[in-house]
Amino acid sequence: MSGSVLRRRRESHRIHTTMRHPHSRRAFLGGALALPGLQFPSLAQAVQAKTTPYNRPKLKITDVRTAQVRGHGLQLHVRIYTDQGIFGHGEGTDAVVGGAPIVRSFRNFLMGQDPLNVDRLFERIRTAGIFAGAQAGQYVAALTAVETALWDLAGKATGLPVYQLLGGKMRDRIRLYCDSQTEDPKDPEAPKKMGQVRDMGFTAVKIDVDDGRDPNRWDAMNWTASNAEIDTMVSKIRFVREFFPKRVDLAVDMHGRYDMTTGKRMAKESEPFHLLYLEEPVPAENVKAMRDIRESTSTPICCGENLFLRHGFREVLEERAADIIMPDLQKCGGLMEGRKIADMAHTYYVPVAPHCVVSPIGTMASAHMCAAIPNFLILEWHWIQRLELWKNFVQEGEIIEKGFVALPERPGIGVTMNEDAARKAKVPNTPWFEAGL
Ligand code: MG
Repeated sequence: MSGSVLRRRRESHRIHTTMRHPHSRRAFLGGALALPGLQFPSLAQAVQAKTTPYNRPKLKITDVRTAQVRGHGLQLHVRIYTDQGIFGHGEGTDAVVGGAPIVRSFRNFLMGQDPLNVDRLFERIRTAGIFAGAQAGQYVAALTAVETALWDLAGKATGLPVYQLLGGKMRDRIRLYCDSQTEDPKDPEAPKKMGQVRDMGFTAVKIDVDDGRDPNRWDAMNWTASNAEIDTMVSKIRFVREFFPKRVDLAVDMHGRYDMTTGKRMAKESEPFHLLYLEEPVPAENVKAMRDIRESTSTPICCGENLFLRHGFREVLEERAADIIMPDLQKCGGLMEGRKIADMAHTYYVPVAPHCVVSPIGTMASAHMCAAIPNFLILEWHWIQRLELWKNFVQEGEIIEKGFVALPERPGIGVTMNEDAARKAKVPNTPWFEAGL
């Protein structure tokens, strides 16, 4: 009889003995370990440290809890607890208003499940929700936070960083662009604010040029930009482009607010500035309209921060509507779904520049996925106006160094929430990982 067969028999005997003798020492310890609050953390950690993943008792999900934080917008944090003292932590964003009750509806299904079958759990929840909005929006954003927590958990259970579970890493550090604090030539603070971005060492910045309050708008509802509005938008691009050295890339966001006329015109006006990309000159929901703009210009067009799942990106790629796509990995379906979207894009030679507006937990989760794909371009960072919260949000402290995130070799996502700091940004009257809510 081989060693592995013997080991499996011993394991099977151990589990069945525990079931037959619920008051045995092993069962007592197992019961203690089963509590999410964990009465014997060192024992649980020892079990994790001393046995290989395949020889451990199967993990079981024992609870799913949430907390809500207001950082850049709303973030939904999800923790998935197990019977062996480890938990996974994931983060969802933007489309998570009302996300906590959706996560609680997933909890009934997740309880008792083996959390290591991440794709299986994801697919079961997704397909179970086809009449509940599982094609996009809040349902998928809530599922995204759960999916990320499962990957964190899988990494902690196997002792591996998440990037390893996503296929291994192509790179050791992830390039970020800083979402600028200003782009207004009339802002007296602009040199100081842009100087801060430059001094932090970022190799790329992004500015927003759309402005619904521009006094040169003729109509509050119509989004055809006037000549004066176009001039203002171009002056912002020129102002920022001239401030930063040429080696710093510049991206420009229009937030999908304009019509075809303005979109085409801005793409053409942007050509002399050799942008990294122009983002969503028109909304991404009409793929052929985006394609028409792309075909009209040499300015690279990027879109997709509000698209969900592989299905949301299929037509964009098939119609060649974008030079670059930007799935939000805390919203579009999660880390493996993001990897699958990136793989689809790679067959069209389209790089991926994920949208990212979350805390260091979600940013690091995104970094693991960005490490695993060949066609990674750049990752967003949007917390420069929340530096105090950013630097204290995880116990590991600042995760950015000179515009890059270095990938940790710790198990899971590799960062742990500093609850004292994070709680300061808690959304009032919402749970904070409390049980039974
Ligand atoms: Mg954007």
